[in-house]
Amino acid sequence: MHRVSEEPEYRICVRCIMDTSDPQIRFDANGVCEYCQNFETNIAPSWHTDERGARELQELSDKILAAGKGKEFDCIIGLSGGLDSSYATLVAVEKMKLRPLLFHVDAGWNTDQAVGNIEKLVDGLEMELHTEVINWREMKDLQLAFLKSQIADQDFPQDTAFFSALYKFARQNRIKYVITGGNYSTECCREPEEWGAYPGIDKTLIEDIHGKFGSRPLETFPIVDIMVYKILYQRVLGMQIVRPLNLVPYIKADAEKELSERFGWQKFQHKHHESRFTRFYEDYWMPRKFGYEKRRAHFSSLVMTGQMSREDALERIARPEMDEHFLEREFEYVANKLNIGIDDLQAIFEEPNKTYHDYKNKRWAIGIGAMVMQKLGLEKRLFR
Ligand SMILES: [Zn+2]
Repeated sequence: MHRVSEEPEYRICVRCIMDTSDPQIRFDANGVCEYCQNFETNIAPSWHTDERGARELQELSDKILAAGKGKEFDCIIGLSGGLDSSYATLVAVEKMKLRPLLFHVDAGWNTDQAVGNIEKLVDGLEMELHTEVINWREMKDLQLAFLKSQIADQDFPQDTAFFSALYKFARQNRIKYVITGGNYSTECCREPEEWGAYPGIDKTLIEDIHGKFGSRPLETFPIVDIMVYKILYQRVLGMQIVRPLNLVPYIKADAEKELSERFGWQKFQHKHHESRFTRFYEDYWMPRKFGYEKRRAHFSSLVMTGQMSREDALERIARPEMDEHFLEREFEYVANKLNIGIDDLQAIFEEPNKTYHDYKNKRWAIGIGAMVMQKLGLEKRLFR
């Protein structure tokens, strides 16, 4: 008998549920994956939500308040209606006593629930909201171009719009501090890059893909390249990204309960479900076309931080988040919304997959930047 195939053997971490669907994953002799090892050696020792975190949060608040004296706003928060940004808003207003400008980017895919959550929170805190609406024709054109490019990174257009609009607005209004809902509690297990998690806004990649598959110029669509926001905005102009959720106890279920009891905020079935496109992309397009389950990383984060048992995570991942009938309807909705037929979307779905390596990009330069960030201890999540 001889071996016909050299298919790599399937393995799954003994602690979390990350597995060989991440083609680069490595395990130690005990079967523990590198994400778990990274959590233990790099994240946990520097993550303090006790008095140390509280002290650090106080110092941070004092600094932001002092810098914002006399100004209408001392910071800006990008609010999506999802859990992380909603809770970060609450912490900024009540614990840090800041005066944030609440900023929402409408890229056309908001679920009603996300809109409702934003309204309830903004009203409840008696704040104002600035909403930036992305030109839908351009948004749609870029999204279709990305779908046709066949790469896994299908949330690139939305992410580009959200962050670019936020950075641009902050810069124009001279707001130095950008508060985000980024956190270890629900995101310590970084999604591998192969799962469509391209590390930053790369204008080169966007322009190459849009140049090949787009059909109308992007005249107003906001694109702030990673080199511009990392170097010009952050290093030269001193814009700072603040993640207060890493300095307070932030337990997913407790935060959901608090927001719901106080504001009538409604919890989502799963992370990223505030956008109808992202929900479709993560629950249908990615697992079925590419074999990648972003939920695997999301659940693993919760397992590492003790908020979910490994058994529960395995059970949840075994079935899609939404039922088949619902997903079929969403397929139809996405096709209609993008102004193409269901058959056209199906045809795109069936074409062979590609990766960003098939297009012009600046990944090498982003890699150098990320290596520097890690050496300086500014990025603790695993970054290959
Ligand atoms: Zn693991």
